Amino acid sequence: MFADVTLPIAFDSFTYLVPSELENKVRRGSRVVVPLGKNKIYTGVVLTLHSNTPQGVELKSIIEVLDEQPAVNELQLRFWQWMASYYICPLGDVMKAALPGAMKPKDEEALKEKNKKRRSADAHSAEAKTSPLSTLSPVQQQAMESIEKSFSEKNVTLLHGVTSSGKTEIYIHLIHKCLQEGKQVLYLLPEIALTTQITERLRRVFGDKMGVYHSKFTEAQRLDIYKRQASACPYQLILGVRSGIFLPFSNLGLIIIDEEHEHSYKQQEPAPRYHARSAAIMLAHMAGAKTLLGTATPSFEVYHMARKERYGYVQLTHRHRDMQLPTVEVIDTKEAKRKKLMKGAFSPRLIEAMREALDRKEQIILFQNRRGFSSFIECKQCGWVPRCPHCDVTLTLHKKTATLTCHYCGYTTHIPTQCPACEETAFTDIGVGTEKVEEQIAKLFEGAATLRMDLDTAKTRLQHERIISDFACHKADILIGTQMVTKGLDFDNVSVVGILDADSMLNLPDFRSYERAFQTLSQVAGRAGRNRKPGLVILQTRSADSDIIRHITNNDYWQMFYEQMSERQLFNYPPFRRLINVYLRHRDDQLLDHLADDMGERLRAVFGDRVLGPERPPIARMHSLYIRKIMLKIEHQASVTQVREALLSIQSQMLAMPIAKSLNIYYDVDPL
Ligand code: ADP
Ligand code: ZN
Ligand code: ZN
Repeated sequence: MFADVTLPIAFDSFTYLVPSELENKVRRGSRVVVPLGKNKIYTGVVLTLHSNTPQGVELKSIIEVLDEQPAVNELQLRFWQWMASYYICPLGDVMKAALPGAMKPKDEEALKEKNKKRRSADAHSAEAKTSPLSTLSPVQQQAMESIEKSFSEKNVTLLHGVTSSGKTEIYIHLIHKCLQEGKQVLYLLPEIALTTQITERLRRVFGDKMGVYHSKFTEAQRLDIYKRQASACPYQLILGVRSGIFLPFSNLGLIIIDEEHEHSYKQQEPAPRYHARSAAIMLAHMAGAKTLLGTATPSFEVYHMARKERYGYVQLTHRHRDMQLPTVEVIDTKEAKRKKLMKGAFSPRLIEAMREALDRKEQIILFQNRRGFSSFIECKQCGWVPRCPHCDVTLTLHKKTATLTCHYCGYTTHIPTQCPACEETAFTDIGVGTEKVEEQIAKLFEGAATLRMDLDTAKTRLQHERIISDFACHKADILIGTQMVTKGLDFDNVSVVGILDADSMLNLPDFRSYERAFQTLSQVAGRAGRNRKPGLVILQTRSADSDIIRHITNNDYWQMFYEQMSERQLFNYPPFRRLINVYLRHRDDQLLDHLADDMGERLRAVFGDRVLGPERPPIARMHSLYIRKIMLKIEHQASVTQVREALLSIQSQMLAMPIAKSLNIYYDVDPL
């Protein structure tokens, strides 16, 4: 008997002999220990058992079978295989993403003891009482019934509700129903930062029926939850970020994808470069479960499906208790700058609104989409700018640590004492980051306490939680942050939201930049005035009279969608076509040029004018590797399998050439 085994490396599978004494133990989904190469040992997962003797290879034997019951169930295996196929990556990469790193035998032993102790402690605290369900308002009740009705006909439903319309409350009622029917629910959030607030809210209702799962947990905790889900008494509700889709489910009834439009649902690096929303919809489909997508600003992909009635559609147009949506005031910073009225990043109107809020003891959120102190520094004399030696980007100034840092590879260096080009000692800093905003606030609003939330201050889950809980109990008056502050946070006392520079989102070289700007800016605006207090949003921009700013001000999703869609259709962009980006990476820039041209021609021979490029992406070098991108625009009717096979065949032709020895090729399907 032979077993095809997938290992946590970038290959699909390897074939092993099953020794006769293990024949009764090994099954599809079992974890096995196997040798690879001269002296490596891996833990893998059995995909298939068969009796087709492989030709021309010397087979090695499985050393050990780790589980009595397969650790990976049939649903998971089918899901992994779909993911590898759809996202064009080796199955081993999917396995690596799917199983907790600690699912290797030696780590596991060490973890067992720890977990035993913790679990008995948990069991104690989990006795905590649960608060009964709140009563839905008539509007919410109606929405809930519409969702259930739509589920009787369709697998996926979009709940399109303005911020604070009570979507979460509806999720809670749907979860409750599902659990009562004995089915499991997976609740996905885009960001670990958001889990804290929602965990508390769900814990009050579902108590110890809920498990939380994300990458900021320790391996021990992740392994513990994985094992519990694979056991006979799994959690009925899992709250997680995108990796939650990889947990074992035995009786999945519903997947909720909150803030479905969020880009952090997409895994960018490493492979599998999957979108957790698409993947979750497929998982639910395979499990016979339903998917509910919730958002105030749907992604075009999802809204388009709802308009075509492929997905159900339920709308909430008013905030809970008819709270007003915040008023958005647009401030023309071009004008203010010309009149020399700006104080750093602050217009007089924003300063005034903030002062009034502070006087009323209300809180303020400021959004600036850039961390660090400035975007970069520049020699005052000759204009020299320090750049990353490994990536094609400028270094960002971090004043607190007195360093220059690359936000792509982490390279960090001291601020130079003099310009290497002209020996000048003075530098100007260009652009405004969250650190600089914080410094300006200290000068403008004496005595106001601030908190900053960005990748520098909120590196760990605990730091995140700390900032959120400190702000929630008013230890600070002003929260400054990058997009981390835009998402789903629910603070009662925030009355003013300031968007310091809306243009930084509009001028990106990306066909999605308007969609994304609308989503981000509406989301951050939605943080204002959530509880009785009317909210005010001050939006600063140099393009005050542009269409997109008007749509945001009027909260006119429909008009924005309508205008953008005609452009998308004209240029064959999603949701009208499926994009696949082919990336080539190499250390040698010139050789890469040649190889990318070669691959481009081979792709054109098969895909014709669906191929664009090769081109240098905006950041054409990262981690010392040069990058080229070739874009494919594929019709939705085209067979996923045929496209994949054509790509992989061209890839192997390329890699068979001796000059392409250290060329790296990978794919990004449905890129964001
Ligand atoms: P969304 O998820 O759409 O942003 P939430 O569910 O968070 O909206 O609701 C906004 C606020 O209104 C929350 O503070 C929530 O507790 C409150 N709320 C919503 N629905 C109800 C309800 N039926 N009963 C009591 N409070 C509610
Ligand atoms: Zn200089
Ligand atoms: Zn770098």
